[in-house]
Amino acid sequence: MTQHPVRAARRERLAQLGTGPAQTAGTAPSARRGRLQALIGGRPRRPRRIAMLSVHTSPLHQPGTGDAGGMNVYIVELAKRLAELDIEVEVFTRAIASDDAPTVQLAPGVLVRHVTAGPYEGLVKEDLPAQLCAFTHGVLRTEAGHRPGHYDLVHSHYWLSGQVGWLAAERWGVPLVHTMHTMAKVKNASLAEGDTPEPAARVIGETQVVEAADRLIANTAEEAAELSHHYDARGDQLAVVHPGVNLDVFRPGSRSAARAALGLPQDAAVLLFAGRIQPLKAPDVLLRAVAVLLARRPELRERLVVPVVGGPSGTGLAKPESLHKLAAQLGISDVVRFHPPVGQARLAEWYRAATALVMPSYSESFGLVALEAQACGTPVVAAAVGGLPVAVRDGVTGSLVHGHDPARWAAALEPYATAPELVRERGAAAARHAAGFGWDTAAAATAEVYAQAMARPAGGLRLA
Ligand code: UDP
Repeated sequence: MTQHPVRAARRERLAQLGTGPAQTAGTAPSARRGRLQALIGGRPRRPRRIAMLSVHTSPLHQPGTGDAGGMNVYIVELAKRLAELDIEVEVFTRAIASDDAPTVQLAPGVLVRHVTAGPYEGLVKEDLPAQLCAFTHGVLRTEAGHRPGHYDLVHSHYWLSGQVGWLAAERWGVPLVHTMHTMAKVKNASLAEGDTPEPAARVIGETQVVEAADRLIANTAEEAAELSHHYDARGDQLAVVHPGVNLDVFRPGSRSAARAALGLPQDAAVLLFAGRIQPLKAPDVLLRAVAVLLARRPELRERLVVPVVGGPSGTGLAKPESLHKLAAQLGISDVVRFHPPVGQARLAEWYRAATALVMPSYSESFGLVALEAQACGTPVVAAAVGGLPVAVRDGVTGSLVHGHDPARWAAALEPYATAPELVRERGAAAARHAAGFGWDTAAAATAEVYAQAMARPAGGLRLA
């Protein structure tokens, strides 16, 4: 196999700096001893400070609308827990307002850096490839203001950040760890009817990032398989780390108190949708299923409530009112309630109030809301796609549904709307299941991936 030019250049630079794998064959004995000691000690060295890249969306944004969703929550939670493990994190994100401070302390050991790249307003995600040069400039310039070796590693999120990370990691002679979050080829393989496919430029960009990365963190074994199937990722690049859930915020509590706080009737059957409103998430499938369910069980109408919590996003932005129109067309406007996105603590109230959380997504790299709802003791009815079969245990903590036929979804939802004992049982099992997904575990596993990448960058020489 031909050597990847970026990796070869990075190895050369690592060798110059006396820290990389190339040094294992005949370089400074002290450096080599350090590496050997680190490995003999069983634990390769961990980074002290990392550059985390989140070009298109900031960890400071409200998730659940526009470009802000699971990735934002993921970065916030991961960064905080890494900082607790003594790995300092600096998150670079694009400034989108003139009053964005150059730096914001998100938590102890976690700094958000706003990079000016293009106009503050008016750019959508699709415009950002043209700003990557400017963004990279901002990142490199920041590092240049410090002593060499300021960052030990780059962790990029989503392909746009991977493009920046690729250059920064090479320039600094440090490993690149990348998390895809979503992949164009996977999304395009299961689009909702009439939805717009991801462009070829993204596929090309993702392929380049996969080639350049030392490690690729996948949410599930299935995502790792997709990385290797669609993007030729090698086995030694791949690491699986399940994301977590903030078990302090998302915890079981009184359903009746939550309903009282949200103004929901105590005896209601609440089928909740929470997240970004776009065709990929298929909130329309929930609405269609509710129409079928009501036709079959008209007596449920009195007490059925379907809250949709979140804001328009992605291709859903083109027709933000389409879900309202659909509810009207289906004759269920009286049971569907739309609510703007809310903060995490308030969202936990929604989960606690719900009879079940419903996720009919066409594609989902993990689906954090499924874990969050379960952590609050609420069962989940989810599409059997992406990470959802890992997040939800079929028949134990909720139900997995194959396909998107509204009649099938109505059949899956009916027992939750009609059998309180089943809801209680599965809700309790859901809380136990979700308790195994703390962010501490995810952060420790991620730190381990960092250590491995530092000890042995992709394609690097191995110590015999
Ligand atoms: N979310 C939120 N407020 C809302 C709706 C959603 O904070 O009103 C958050 C939710 O807590 C979750 C994230 O948005 O962590 C959505 O993540 P998920 O993985 O389910 O979907 P993604 O947005 O990544 O496609």
